[in-house]
Amino acid sequence: MTTASFNTFSDFDDHKVINYFQDEKSGLRGFITVHRGNCKFPAFGATRYWSYQDEKSALIDSLRLSKLMSHKAALAGIPCGGGKAVIIKDANIRNKKDLLRIYADRVNLLGGHFITGADVGISREDVITMRRRSPYFVGVMVDPVRFTGLGLLLGIKACLSEVFHSDSLANRSFAIQGVGKIGNELIKLIYPFAQKIYVADIDPKAVKTVGSKFPKVKVVNLNEINQLKVDVFSPCALSNCLNKNSVNRLNCGIVAGGANNQLESEDVAETLFKKSILYAPDYVVNAGGLISVYDEYENGNTRVSRVEKKVLIVEKNMRAIIFQSKKTGKNPAEIANSLAREIFDNLV
Ligand code: NAD
Repeated sequence: MTTASFNTFSDFDDHKVINYFQDEKSGLRGFITVHRGNCKFPAFGATRYWSYQDEKSALIDSLRLSKLMSHKAALAGIPCGGGKAVIIKDANIRNKKDLLRIYADRVNLLGGHFITGADVGISREDVITMRRRSPYFVGVMVDPVRFTGLGLLLGIKACLSEVFHSDSLANRSFAIQGVGKIGNELIKLIYPFAQKIYVADIDPKAVKTVGSKFPKVKVVNLNEINQLKVDVFSPCALSNCLNKNSVNRLNCGIVAGGANNQLESEDVAETLFKKSILYAPDYVVNAGGLISVYDEYENGNTRVSRVEKKVLIVEKNMRAIIFQSKKTGKNPAEIANSLAREIFDNLV
């Protein structure tokens, strides 16, 4: 991989910073990518810790995620740019804590132009460890997962209103792909009301935990979860779960989940639209976490009621996107993308 090849990646999209970091002793390796952001508006985006086939796949994931963060911030009304970091998980890594401390030192080198927190593979405890080393970690005072879950629920309700003419969860069925932090939070919120909840996860431990916490949840195979006849399919795992193959297997009325970058490509959104499956753009409905960490950054404290009020924007946005989609005949992802781009391209 040469630096000259960066701008040939389809997700380069004029990224402002691509930072490669490495530390031989700890095994630290990965990227920080800043899509939009400047001295006035820092780039926000959480840090992912995951295994990748190679460095190129890790970089592409980071580029796609930081670009998505610019979209997310724009529609959530947050004056910041979009960034992301991925740390490449490796079997040779002996001490994750040491590695995270060294990573926090690298974040310090960006001098506050990149603000980060917990994504896949990073726990709140990990963030607290890194925060001791760097002031540029957020999600310490209140766990953002709570607000991501709340926003997701509000977004789902907007979709239910459209498809079933009622936002009630009673009699509704859900299939949740991935039961980590967000998947668990969503189950917690819908469990008392939903008629049926199916889950699947590649990690048997995660599935076992859910089974003991929520005994009425039904665990299914990984390849079955996106084929079930349910009202809502909720992707809460990794990127690209909606692709040319999986989209034809879907048997749901709504796709609304917490995972970032669910669509492998934009034409998948068009296929969903043609199949009359209502797709809630991922970055619209999972913005609650970003809203909460930006609130913490801005105020230096956290008030739950203040953040909850701000998270209401998720439902408002989703309803507006559905309205525009019906009016123009364009799919919801296309509507959201053009609204967001207009905002973040003017972030100067
Ligand atoms: P997490 O690491 O806590 O959970 C992810 C879960 O997905 C894990 O249990 C993992 O085993 C499972 N998984 C991975 N690949 C899978 C597959 N192919 N099929 C089924 N399960 C699979 O991460 P999280 O914080 O819950 O994040 C989940 C998604 O939500 C990510 O895409 C993340 O970027 C996004 N997101 C998270 C937040 C947040 O506040 N944590 C906010 C916005 C968006």
